[in-house]
Order: sequence, then C-alpha cells, then structure tokens
Amino acid sequence: MTSIGFLGLGDIGTPMAARLAAAFDLTVWNRTAAKATAFGAAHRARVAASVADAVRDAEVVATCVPTSADVDGLVTSALPTLSPHAVWLDFTSGDPVVSTRIAARLAEHGVPFIDAPVSGGTSAAAAGTLAIMLGGDAPVIERVRPILEAVGKTIVHCGPIGAGDAVKSVNNALMAVNLWAAAEGLVALRKAGVPSAVALQVINASSGRSNASMNLIPERVLTRAFPRTFRLALLDKDVGIAAQVARTQRAPAPLLQLTAELMRIAHHQLGEEADHSEMVKVVEGWAGAEIG
Ligand code: NDP
Repeated sequence: MTSIGFLGLGDIGTPMAARLAAAFDLTVWNRTAAKATAFGAAHRARVAASVADAVRDAEVVATCVPTSADVDGLVTSALPTLSPHAVWLDFTSGDPVVSTRIAARLAEHGVPFIDAPVSGGTSAAAAGTLAIMLGGDAPVIERVRPILEAVGKTIVHCGPIGAGDAVKSVNNALMAVNLWAAAEGLVALRKAGVPSAVALQVINASSGRSNASMNLIPERVLTRAFPRTFRLALLDKDVGIAAQVARTQRAPAPLLQLTAELMRIAHHQLGEEADHSEMVKVVEGWAGAEIG
C-alpha cells in the first residue's frame, strides 16, 4: 500500500485526506496541530508532529495549502528527511512560476513534482469526484494515478509543470466573472421590481445561466447562508494568478484584469474569513439593494 504524507488539513485538504485514509497508508501533518489530532481520532491515519516526520517514510508527499509560497516553505522543512524515491504531489491552487521553481528545487534531490490543483469544492472532495488538472511528466502522473482516482473523477493532464496551475486559475477567474456579473444583473433587476427568484427562473432556463446562477446564488445568496467552504481570499489569489498568466503571455485580457481588481477590493472589504459567495455583498452595497 502506497505510503502518503499529507500536509495541510484545511477546508478542502481535510475531505481529500479522509478519502485517502480509507485506501492508503496515510500520515498527516497540519500547522495547527489540533486539526491533525482531530483527524487522527476520526480516520485511519498516523499524526506527525513535524513536516520532517510526516514525509520521512512517504512514497508520495501530498500538499494542500493556500499558496505556492507556502508549499515552498514545506519543501524547506521536508528536504532533510525526504526520500529521493518520493513524488511530490501538490493539490494547492498554485502559481505556475513558483511551481516551476519548486520543481527545479526538488529535482536537485531526485524528487519529481506534479502540480495537481482540484476543482469541485468541498462536497466533490468528500465524494471523490473532483476535477484534477495536472502539470508534469506523464510517467510520474502514472505513478500517482491511484491517489488521483481516489479523490477525483475527471483527471486531465494539461501539459508541463505549471500547466495545471494555469488552467485552475483561469477556471476560477471564469467563476468569479460569472458570479460578479450575475450579482450586478440581479441587483439591477431587483431595483426594477423583479424578484431574484423570478429572474433566475428565466435565466436558468436560458443562455445566461452559469454555475453561479444555477447553484451558488440559489444555495448561498438567496438563503443568505453564505456557508464558508472556499475563502474569498483564495479566489482573489487565483484570479490574480490568471491575470498574471495573461500578462506574461502578452494576451490582452481586460476582463480578467478588471476581475482581479474587483476580487482584491472585495477581499479587502470582507476580510480573510469570508466565503467567496459573499462577494455579492459588495455589489449589493454599491447598489443599495439586496439580491432576493
Ligand atoms: P484553508 O484556508 O481552509 O486551509 C489552509 C490549510 O493550509 C490549513 O490547514 C492551514 O493550516 C494550512 N496553511 C496555511 N498556511 C500555511 C503555511 N504557511 N505552512 C503550512 N501550512 C499552512 O484552505 P483550503 O483547504 O480551502 O484550500 C487549500 C488549497 O486548495 C488552496 O490553494 C485553495 O485555493 C485550493 N482549493 C480550495 C477549494 C475549496 O473549496 N476550499 C476548492 C479548490 C481548490 P492551519 O490549520 O494552521 O491554518
């Protein structure tokens, strides 16, 4: 049974690690130790006291932390005990430039790196139905395929190292564009006297529909529940990466640049703990009307 050292038990890392605990020899580590202890009590997993301890016997090191800079810090802590026969599988929604640097650092120790960001949210993570977009060498991906299949349903090799990160950032930028635009439209319609549920009845049977109009707004905004499953701070990071990818490629992308700016504003206004769906509150505040 493959041994995995899993680092980062956050909102999405936890349900992913829970699936891996059922099928692999799992060791977990988390920066806030209490979360790892609680995980160890609930699942078949060893709890490591340090990163060095978590990776010591790992054939695969899996990471799921906010940013590639955080992954780089974990590499520093892991290197003294990391086996040269291990693979580093990074589920973080990362930055392609930093991932390429990390891969080069690990390669000096003989350890291959795969960027493997995921999509589908915490419910898909729990169900093992995530979409996983991969960057790296095909033979290395084959070595970790059983792990990918334990957490994902759609598994796509996008290209060399960093390609998975780049695709993920654009996907999330599209989600942000859709949610923000839907909020603007629904607020305007509400001011024009059309209840949002009525407007959505039409839009969701028509060409303007999106995941935002079909799922996010009905489940999180109309209910005013805004459950925290994916922090706005992380979406701000992702859209910033997408805007940077476009700039680096000299691809004109005014809408992505504007959306990155809007996410920065919303993140600044709503803080570190807000769910991404709460961005609509900024639109509502500017218009002086609520979606509903
Ligand atoms: P959270 O903010 O919920 O959790 C982050 C985790 O990383 C926590 O375990 C945290 O530890 C740990 N961490 C933070 N900084 C560091 C650091 N410098 N060194 C070591 N550990 C650190 O994030 P998510 O689980 O939501 O997201 C993780 C990644 O997955 C992100 O890149 C995100 O964009 C991506 N993602 C998230 C989705 C979601 O639905 N939540 C969906 C798809 C992708 P501590 O407990 O101490 O705070």
